[in-house]
Amino acid sequence: MNAHVPLPTLDDGCGVSVRQERGQRAVFCGLTGIVWLHRKIQDAFFLVVGSRTCAHLIQSAAGVMIFAEPRFATAIMDERDLAGLADMNDELDRVVARLIERRPDIRLLFLVGSCPSEVIKLDLGRAAQRLSRRLSPEVRVLSYSGSGIETTFTQGEDACLAALVPEMPAASPDAAPSLLVVGALADVVEDQFARLFADLGIAPVRFLPARRAAEMPPVGPNTRYLLAQPFLTDTARALEEHGATRLAAPFPLGAEGTTRWLKAAADAWGVAPAHFDAVTAPGLKRARRALEPYRDLLRAKRIFFFPDSQLEIPLARFLSREMEAELVEVGTPYLHRGHLTDDMALLPRLTQVVEGQSLDDQMDRCRLAKPDLTVCGLGLANPLEAEGLTTKWSIELLFTPIQGYDQAGDLAELFARPLVRRTRLEV
Ligand code: SF4
Repeated sequence: MNAHVPLPTLDDGCGVSVRQERGQRAVFCGLTGIVWLHRKIQDAFFLVVGSRTCAHLIQSAAGVMIFAEPRFATAIMDERDLAGLADMNDELDRVVARLIERRPDIRLLFLVGSCPSEVIKLDLGRAAQRLSRRLSPEVRVLSYSGSGIETTFTQGEDACLAALVPEMPAASPDAAPSLLVVGALADVVEDQFARLFADLGIAPVRFLPARRAAEMPPVGPNTRYLLAQPFLTDTARALEEHGATRLAAPFPLGAEGTTRWLKAAADAWGVAPAHFDAVTAPGLKRARRALEPYRDLLRAKRIFFFPDSQLEIPLARFLSREMEAELVEVGTPYLHRGHLTDDMALLPRLTQVVEGQSLDDQMDRCRLAKPDLTVCGLGLANPLEAEGLTTKWSIELLFTPIQGYDQAGDLAELFARPLVRRTRLEV
């Protein structure tokens, strides 16, 4: 726990007030990302090198997976390991050998670091190289950290994708321009976007992560990429080191966000405005129609975001502009100003954005403001509900397909649902 240190308020230049705050935090660690990533890369396996706490976190976050053959596990380090009595590397090699023998379908193995593996300074990068040499070409082994010391919640996906970038084939400098969509999306959303890009005449279009380890897309100086998620700082940096260029856009949440996101690619490919309008009009119409019934429920509702997923700024933009909700405070654990410029510019003037967290101070502000809806992590939701506040778990926004035209209604419904439930309870 750190002492609260108030930091200055900055005006970001687009009229949004950004205040930084440091203190006690309440967020999940980056291991959580395994829950959606293991479904995305179908022949990957995530081996957490951690403690029983890590195993419990993953197991309860992915509780629904108990009937499936899971693609994640925890190599539990016990007291003997932590005391340095056993050679951890030998032990890890044995665990991996057993795993690959039992699961010959694995093509990509991630060794995922945790707080305990970091504390004892177990070098998982070297372990991954050693195991890769032994198991290639059938299995590639990579590593990244999901530890709570280094990462929050969605940063696990960033660390995982950043680890994949050096494995992507190099695209020839003479290759035609290609579009890369970066960030794990539900397959159904990915398919919808692929169809829209094809109708716009944008090709080739590829997605990171790919659904299979052997299909990771090439990257090079002619790669233009669109971020599908706002928490991919390290991945973006790694792609740019390989020559890729980011297309600036708001994130594809809601009818407006999706249209502007697609437009960024359309402009880069020189798609005629009339053709763009013709291709996007049916989806835009469906999205607007789907949003209508929820606008009446969310209009003028006062919404308070605790910092959790890094999706807060684009969500706040969607709620204020398309749902006419009021933003009391928009907390976000980190604010990548470059990646979020377009969303920030669409926030109402004087929106209070708070970067970082000082939990007690923010709880006090939330109690004082008495918002109609508080978007927060699981750990805060129960105490706030007990105090009479209505909450939305931010983790649901990662587990539910919310991007694109055909998910706009589902996105609005996620925020409307707790308000409807509260009204029913009161009746
Ligand atoms: Fe807890 Fe750290 Fe394991 Fe995450 S990585 S579950 S914060 S011990």
